[in-house]
Formats: sequence, structure tokens, C-alpha cells
Amino acid sequence: MIPYLVGGSWVRSSAATLPVYDPATGGVIDEVPLLGAAEVDAAVRAAVDANAKWSRTPVMERVRLMFRFRDLLEGHREELAAIVTRHHGKTLDEARGEVRRGVEVVEFACGAPTLLQGRTLRDVAAGVDQDLFRFPVGVVAGIPPFNFPVMIPLWMFPLAIVAGNAFVLKPSERTPLGAVRLAELFMEAGFPDGVLNVVHGAKDAVDAILDHPLINAVSFVGSEKVARHVYERAAAGGKRVSAASGAKNHIVVMPDADLTHALAAVLNSAFGNAGERCLAGSVAVAVGGVHDRFVEQLGDAARAMVVGPGDRPGVQVGPLIRDDHRKRVVEFIERGEREGARVVADGRNLLSDPGFFLGPTLLDGVSPEMAVGRQEIFGPVLSVSHVATLDDAIAQANSMSLGNMAAIFTSSGAAAREFRERVEAGMIGVNVGVAQPFGFYPFSGWKHSFFGDLHPHGTDAIEFYTRKKMVVSRWS
Ligand code: NAD
Repeated sequence: MIPYLVGGSWVRSSAATLPVYDPATGGVIDEVPLLGAAEVDAAVRAAVDANAKWSRTPVMERVRLMFRFRDLLEGHREELAAIVTRHHGKTLDEARGEVRRGVEVVEFACGAPTLLQGRTLRDVAAGVDQDLFRFPVGVVAGIPPFNFPVMIPLWMFPLAIVAGNAFVLKPSERTPLGAVRLAELFMEAGFPDGVLNVVHGAKDAVDAILDHPLINAVSFVGSEKVARHVYERAAAGGKRVSAASGAKNHIVVMPDADLTHALAAVLNSAFGNAGERCLAGSVAVAVGGVHDRFVEQLGDAARAMVVGPGDRPGVQVGPLIRDDHRKRVVEFIERGEREGARVVADGRNLLSDPGFFLGPTLLDGVSPEMAVGRQEIFGPVLSVSHVATLDDAIAQANSMSLGNMAAIFTSSGAAAREFRERVEAGMIGVNVGVAQPFGFYPFSGWKHSFFGDLHPHGTDAIEFYTRKKMVVSRWS
């Protein structure tokens, strides 16, 4: 059974548990306790106690510990990647990339002495000075999704903690092992007890966080339905909320695109991480005459992808997270067929047990009216639409209620600029299939892909994890 962390001590619970699987074998590798309000309350109280001192600890002391944490992460990169692959299923290369992108946020957090600076204006009136100071918000909670068990927790607690807050992390019950190892390394770096606490569980634990009066801010990343719930319920209790949610990313391929480059990038965007990524390309919109060649080559390439356990060399597509999720993805493919899509590459040929595998699937002739053209699938399924002009492609992308990422492949600067200006998504790729901002910029979903005001990481996160105090002084 996986322990949880309260006030610096790892605790084993007698609560009911859920199995944690190795998705490549379907075997159970551990049990995660489903904690409730009492355990969440104990973690929050430990955070409140720790925060009294931590919030007044000089910034350079906080940063020195963060540098040590960063070094420990570097030293354990391979181990962390192996943990990700083992209980998430993605390939080792993908897991290594995830760890690297997470460490970048910790490196950004090490810049706190600059990031946390306020502002001063002397003589705003005769003999009067105005200062803006940044203070921590208090106790912050983080609720990540299953698909990046190391990277997304690292979007949250290092920045909150370096800003002087204490933290309660509730990892995904499907992939809790990454966060547990991160917390062990964090304690090894020398952070005081109670500054980071980890509780496990699902809806009950999350609702206890949302309702807890001593939590001041909630960082959430997950599905649209839960993001909306978290946003509304936490805000009703007066908390600040940053809730990143689902995606239906469109990738536009123009007739003048470098097709070899576009194919490789679209393939990686749609099927990398087995499509379980909020920046996954979900709909490829082929413009004008490029369609037939593009679909034919894409179909061949999708069928040639190597599907298998993430730790096996040469594998490009790992298993899905759970069997029930795989069933849901297969239902989407079936519905797509019923609604008139043509199956160009059929990943159902690779359905196999044990393990939750499903091969890359390519559907052609998809329109935004079809479920596969409109809803987030979160699996290795790429839909292709065919439109006449860039205007049509932009209109199709903008008809989605979600607006996480959109990408264009073209050799025309004018087309790329037009796309960037008009497409209603917060992260744009130009000849890039996975437009992930680096840790020092915000992860900037638009429309229903985000609920709140300030996005994960970057200077948005510094704003989110601090509150401002204005001081007006007159010394006569
Ligand atoms: P999820 O919404 O099911 O779970 C996210 C978190 O919410 C988990 O910690 C889970 O325990 C908790 N949770 C689940 N159901 C709940 C409920 N009914 N009430 C309260 N809490 C609940 O998401 P997931 O399946 O783990 O992750 C996949 C989703 O996350 C996809 O929609 C994907 O697009 C999205 N995602 C978004 C981003 C982004 O930055 N926008 C990044 C990664 C993933």
C-alpha cells in the first residue's frame, strides 16, 4: 500500500484501496488508499503549522533547497522515467522527456529572488512612497491528472513552495507513484516537515480539498468536467483557482507544407504518449490538394508504428492507462464509423491482452458534427478533415468549445501569421506538432480548456501563488 505524507512522516492508511496497474501487463503493482476528509484535514493542518515559519524563511534559503531538489531530480532522472513508464505505460523516451520538462519548472523556480520582486515608486505625492510587496497566499493544494505523473506535479508545488506557501498534493489515483518519489526527493533536499504534504484518493479527497477553509488556492489539471467542478466549488469557498482542462487540438496542413516534416510531426503529435496528452493533435485538417497524398502516407506510417510495452527498445506507442478507458476509445472509433468516417488505419487490430494496448487509428472524412470530430478522445485516434481554404480550416478549429492548442504546417509566413492571429486557442504551433510552452511561459489554454485567470507555470504561476500588499509611506 502506498503511504501518504503528513507533516514530514509517511503514514500507512487502513482506508479502502484501488489497484495501481502496470498498463503494459495489466498486472497490479501496488494499492493506493482512497483517503477522505479526515486525512486531508490532517495534511492541511500540518501545512498550516509549517507555513508559519516557512512563509518567513528568507528567499535565498528557500532557493538553496530548491537547487538541491533540482540536483536530486537530475541524479534520479532515469529512475523517475522508469517509474513513469511502469505505471503510466508511455515509452521510456517519452518518460525521459516528461521528467526533463518537469525539471525545467524547478529550474525556473530557482529564479525566485528575481521572480518574487515587488515594485516601488518614490514620491507618488510629496514625501510619499508607494511599495508593492509579494506575499505567499498560504496553503495551496494541487490536483494533477494521470497522464504526466512527474511533470504536472512539478508544474505545481515547486513554484508554490519557493514563493513561501505550504502545499498539499493529491496525485492522480491512477498514477500516484511519480509524486510519491518526488516527495521523497523533496524531503531529502532538506525542506522542513509539513511544507509539502501528499494525500491520496479520488473524488472524496478532492472535494475535501475544495471545501477546506484553510486552503487558499487550488491548482488543478484534468478533464473538462472535473475542472469545471473544481473551479466552481473552490471559488464558491473564496479560493483562487487555476484549472486547466481538456482539449480538441486541430492541426492544419497547407498545400505548401513540407509534407515529410508535417507527417512526422503530426504522427508524433497524435500518437505519442498513446494520444493521452492534452497537446495531442486530434484532428488534422488537410487544406486543398494536399489531402489524398497526406492521408495515404499518414495511413502507411500509422500502420508501421511499433506498439508495445514502453520499456521495450524501438516501441513508439505504449498502452492506454486502463482497460475501461481503452473500451471508451474503441467506442469512439465505432461511433466514427457509424457516423460515416472511413477507417484508414485500424488500431483495433492490435487490441491485445494482457495489457491495455490499442494501435494508432486514422479516420478520414471526419466533420465537426461527428463525435470524433468534436469530443476529446484521449487515445491514439487521429481524425482527418478535408477543407478548401485556410479560412475554412480556421473556422473549423474555432467551432470547438475547447481551445488548448492549434498548429499549422506551411511554408508561407503570411498563412502562419493569419492562423496565429485568428485561431482561438492559447497555444499555437507553427510547423510544430506539440506546441508546449517552456516552464517560464504560461501553459495557456483558452475557452473551455481552462477555468480561471492565471495559467500553470511561468510568471502566471508566480502571480497565482502570491498576493500583493501595497504600502504607502510618509516619513515627515
Ligand atoms: P480527471 O479529470 O479524471 O482527473 C484529474 C484529477 O481529478 C485526478 O486527480 C482525479 O483524482 C480527480 N477527479 C477525478 N474525478 C473527479 C470527480 N468526479 N470529482 C473530483 N475530483 C475528481 O482527468 P484524467 O483522466 O486524470 O486526465 C486526463 C484529462 O486531463 C484530459 O481531459 C486531458 O486533456 C486533461 N489534461 C489537461 C492538461 C492541460 O494542461 N490542459 C494537461 C494534462 C491533462
